Formats: sequence, C-alpha cells, structure tokens
Amino acid sequence: MSKLVPGSECLNGVLEGGRAAGVPEMTDIVSDAAACPEYRDIRDAQFRPAGRDHGNGDPRELFAVARILQSRHKSRTVTFSKKAFINVVNLCRDICSYCTYKAEPGQPKSVMMSKQQIDLSLQMARRYGCIEALLVTGERPEERYEEARRWLGENGFESTADCLAYASRKALELGLFPHTNAGNLTRPEMAELQKTNVSMGVMLETSSGRLASEPGGPHYLAPSKRPAARIAVLEDAGRLRIPMTTGILLGIGETVREAVESLGVIRDIHRRYGHIQEVIIQNFWPKPDTAMRRAPPADRAYFMAVVAACRVMMPDMNIQIPPNLSPGTYGEFLSVGINDWGGVSPLTPDYVNPEFPWPAIRRLKRDTEAAGYRLECRFPVYPEFAHMVPGRLRDMMSRVAQADGNGGGAMLVKRELWE
Ligand code: SF4
Repeated sequence: MSKLVPGSECLNGVLEGGRAAGVPEMTDIVSDAAACPEYRDIRDAQFRPAGRDHGNGDPRELFAVARILQSRHKSRTVTFSKKAFINVVNLCRDICSYCTYKAEPGQPKSVMMSKQQIDLSLQMARRYGCIEALLVTGERPEERYEEARRWLGENGFESTADCLAYASRKALELGLFPHTNAGNLTRPEMAELQKTNVSMGVMLETSSGRLASEPGGPHYLAPSKRPAARIAVLEDAGRLRIPMTTGILLGIGETVREAVESLGVIRDIHRRYGHIQEVIIQNFWPKPDTAMRRAPPADRAYFMAVVAACRVMMPDMNIQIPPNLSPGTYGEFLSVGINDWGGVSPLTPDYVNPEFPWPAIRRLKRDTEAAGYRLECRFPVYPEFAHMVPGRLRDMMSRVAQADGNGGGAMLVKRELWE
C-alpha cells in the first residue's frame, strides 16, 4: 500500500486505516472528487484493469490519482516566490476569531507605515535580493479608526488603496514586483493597482455563509468575509483580467462538505473568467491572543485529503500549501498534489502566523529535491498568467527572467538571483 504514496508516513498511516482518523466524512471528499472526469479516466485506466478499484469511498485512490494528476499537469517542478512581506497597516475594520495579524491602535504590534518606512522596507527587500513585494493591509482600517484616518492624512493619502498604489510604484522603481493582498478592494481600486501589480490576492477562506451568519462563528464580525462579498471581488478581478491568488482556510469550523464546496466555488469562478492563478490551502493554527485560542488545529489527514481533492477538481491549477505551517513535514504534501510553496521571505516574518518561521530557501530546495522535484523561483504572477500582465511590467520581468522566459517559455526568475 505504501507504494501508492511513497515518502509520506502520515498519509500511509491514513491509508492503512482506510480513512482519516477522526474525520468520519472522509468518504464525502473522495466521492466528490471521484465524480471529476479525469479521476474517472485515471481510475479506469490504472486501477480497474489491475483489480485495484477501491470504490468511491476509499482515500487510497484519491491520493494516488492526485499524485498522477500533479505529475501529468505540473511535471516535476515546484515553485516559490522570494518575497518581502510589507506590513503596510495592520489595523482592520473587521474581526475574525482566529486572526492575530490585526492590531488595535496603540498596541505594540500595531503598524501604520509612513512613506519613509515604506521606502526603507522596500529598499531593504531589494538589498536581500527579494523579487516580490507582498503588500498587505487590514480591511479598510480608515472606516473604523480615527488613528488610521489621521495616518492617511499625515502621509497625503486619500485611502488605504491610495497608499498601496504609492507603495506599488515605489516597489517597481526598485525592481521589485508588487502583489497586493488588501481584502475586499473595489473594482476601481483594483483597476488602479493593476497598473503596477503583476498579480493580486484575496482569500475566499470559505464559501460557507453559516460561518459568517451564526453568532460566535469565525466571520460573524467580519462582513468582508461573507462569501458573496469575496466572490464579488474575485469576479471583479476576473472582469479586469487580473491574475488572482485565492484559497481556503481549513479547520475554522467548516464541515468537510463545506470545504469541498468552497473549492467548487473557486473552480466555477475560474471557469467563467480564467484568472485564478493559484489556490492556497491553509491550515488553521490557534493563536493565544484570539477568540479561537482553544480550538484544535486543522486535522492533518483532513488537510491532506482536501489538498488531494483540490488537485482532482482542478487538475491544472497551481496549488500551494504554506510550508511554515507544516514544519518538518511539508514535503509530504508533494505526495498529494501541490506544486508551489508560496512566498518565502529571507527578510521578514509571516505577520499572519508570526510563530511559524519560513524555512530557509536552501532548506526548501534541499527538501524539494529530496522528494524528487526541482525547485524554481517564480514571480508573484505564475508563468502561464504572465500574458495578462501589462506590457511594461512584463518587460521588467523579462530582464530578470531565465533566458527563454519572454515568449513561449516559462517566465521564471534567473537561478543566480535566488540560489
Ligand atoms: S483576517 Fe484579515 S479581515 Fe480578518 S481580522 Fe484579520 S486582518 Fe481583518
């Protein structure tokens, strides 16, 4: 049986039990995935003739099919982005029960960067050889806090989005490629940022309205996380033809079916607009200073099964798990269909998960190669979406891209800039 998922102790433990311990609805994931056409084709070709059909309720097939699809659509290349996390402002009008990123004015961790601080952070990122400037803010802090309105006024900005446009221009001037993640931006705001950002991101988190409407739910006090609001942002980005990163957060109280439905929502948006460049599947960890501090972390076997289901549901999608959130074992996720490690910074912490340091890039390369894959550094925008980037930005990318990068070849960063 271990031949199905070589190199994954956890997964083989799951398989020996026939399903994930503590996840009785595991068969739901497998059944949903098994309805996908490529799954059926592979099962018919590879399992039935050999008498290895496990039916629709056994995760052995799911993991094996995900692995085959990963090889078929993504070859042996796994990517990451060498980034600096620029924490522009961490005040936020919303309250998510699991969030430790958000700060209140006056707290030691609160950040409202001045223009000078933005400039200095970007210069430092450049000095550390970063390629991506990940620009992150809380959700429209000026709508809730006088302090945020004062910060904007003192720096000559009309809004948080205006500040992001400034930071993006500065990043480009320094040769860094901006990728903004600032929650629910409006269509005009995204259109403005599209001039300087090679890609953008907003997590769907979940398509479960229940988690936002039930008192005590993780998104009850976060209107920006209502699924309809997030879907509208992703659709607007699609109409604007912006390469978008999105994803889901597992373990915040969703059912297994809701997790799979969330992936289905992302798949459907991508089918309509063709602009979702990446799905991040992030596992929840409780944070001591949050309302969900006593909630258990996301079940690992469930996490792996959802990753595999994502590969089956969207066979050619770029799928990422953050390696710092699975310390020491992240390499096992290569066995269930991922092909990207996301942004990894040699300079800044993960302000969203500050207790989890990113692995060193050298370590990431070693672990990736040990699993039989080749590590490459990508831009914030994935190579196959680079054609959607404005020509001026694409020209800038081609200057630091590998020789065959501008045109039909893969737009990946020169190896000497990150190895
Ligand atoms: S997760 Fe985002 S929207 Fe929610 S409280 Fe934190 S910063 Fe605000």
